[in-house]
Amino acid sequence: MKKVILVKNGELALKGLNRSTFEDILVKNIRRRLSSLGKFEFIKAQSTVIIEPENEEIDFDEAAERVSKVFGIAAYSIAGTAEKDIEKIKEAAVEFLYDDLKSAKTFKVCAKRSDKKFPFTSPEICREVGGYILGKIPSLKVDVHEPEITVTVEVRDNNVFVHGNQRKGAGGMPVGTSGRAALLISGGIDSPVAGYMMSKRGLVLSAIHFAAPPYTSKRAEMKVKELAQIVSKYSGRINFMVVPFTEIQEAIKDNCPEDLFTIIMRRMMMKVALRLAEKDGCKALITGESLGQVASQTLDAIACTDAVTTIPVFRPLIGMDKEEIISTARKIGTFETSLLPYEDCCTVFTPKHPRTRPTIALIEEAENKFDFEPLIEKAVDGTKYQPVD
Ligand code: ATP
Ligand code: MG
Repeated sequence: MKKVILVKNGELALKGLNRSTFEDILVKNIRRRLSSLGKFEFIKAQSTVIIEPENEEIDFDEAAERVSKVFGIAAYSIAGTAEKDIEKIKEAAVEFLYDDLKSAKTFKVCAKRSDKKFPFTSPEICREVGGYILGKIPSLKVDVHEPEITVTVEVRDNNVFVHGNQRKGAGGMPVGTSGRAALLISGGIDSPVAGYMMSKRGLVLSAIHFAAPPYTSKRAEMKVKELAQIVSKYSGRINFMVVPFTEIQEAIKDNCPEDLFTIIMRRMMMKVALRLAEKDGCKALITGESLGQVASQTLDAIACTDAVTTIPVFRPLIGMDKEEIISTARKIGTFETSLLPYEDCCTVFTPKHPRTRPTIALIEEAENKFDFEPLIEKAVDGTKYQPVD
C-alpha cells in the first residue's frame, strides 16, 4: 500500500504573517530536509500538506523522523492510501492499522469527507468501517469519548487516506519566517537549547563560537560543531563560525583587574559577536544565560554585558531552572554531547572571586586602560566559517 505523510501546519491563526507565505516556507523547509533521502511530491490541499515519496525504495521511517523535527508543524500522520470505494477503504483501514488495532482495547472511526460526490456520508463511512474492523478484530470495543486509537478516513477530491492517531509535530513557526539571529554557542548544556528555542520561533541561525587555542583544544571545537549539527536537525542549516579569541583573553588577563576578567571577557564576546552578526545579516544575538545561574549571570552582570550591544539579545532560558533546561536538552538530543568533558574558553583564566555586582562605570574604566579595538578587529577578520546541516 502506498504511504504518505500528512502534515497539519501549526500556528495558522497568525496575525503578522499571511497563511500562504507560512505554508510556502514550511514546504520549502520540509523539502530541503528530505532531499537527501530521494524524491518526494508535495501537494498542498485543504490546510494539509501531503508528502508522497516517489518510489518504494525511499526510507519512509527516516522521512517521518525528519518531518517530526521541522518547526511549523502542529501534528502529522502517517497514512495509507485507498481507492475511492467503500469496500477498498475498509480493507485498507484494517490492513494499514492491523498491528495498532490488534494491541489496542478501544477505538473509534472518524470520517472527513470533502468530496461531496462520494456516495456515503461521514456517519455512514464511520459505521461501515467501524463494523468491518469489529468483525476482523472482535477483541476491540468502540469508545467514542476516549478511544485508544482514532481511525481517521479522509475522502478528498483526489485521494482517500486512512490513518491512526496523529503524532505531535515540533510546533512553533517555520524557520525563515522571523529573520536571522546569531547564537553564541559554547560546549555547555544551555546554549544549544537556547538556539533550539529561538529557531522554533522561526529564526534562521548563525552560530558563533569563541575558541582559545592552545588553552582550548580542537576536540572541544569539534564538540561544539557537533552540538550545532544536532540543533540543525531542527533549525536547518546553521552558519557556524569559530572566532580566535586567545589574544583578547590574554590581553584581558594582562591588563585588567582579576575580579572583572569574566565580565570584561563577556563584553568582548558581545563586541565581536555584534560585528559578525552584522556581516551575516543577523538582527539579534541569542545566549543561553539563565538569571542567577553563575556570577556572570546576575542582573548587574547582565546589565554590563547588555550595555555594549546595539541589537536585541534574546535569552530564552532566562527564567528556566537547570532541571527544565536539561529536560529540553535530553528531548532534542544535545545533552549527552554537552556532557563531554572538554574545556571552554570561559574556564580559562577564571577569577577566584568574580565580582557579582559590577558597575558599568567600573568596567569601562578598566577597559579603557588598554586598546582592545585592534584585537577585536583581528578576531573578526580571523573568524572561520563552516556551515553545518
Ligand atoms: P552554556 O551551558 O551554554 O555553556 P553556561 O551556563 O555554562 O552556558 P556561561 O559559561 O556563563 O554559562 O555562558 C553563558 C552564555 O555565553 C552561554 O550560554 C553562551 O551563549 C555564551 N558563551 C559562553 N561561552 C561561549 C563560547 N566559548 N563561545 C560562544 N558563546 C559562549
Ligand atoms: Mg558554559
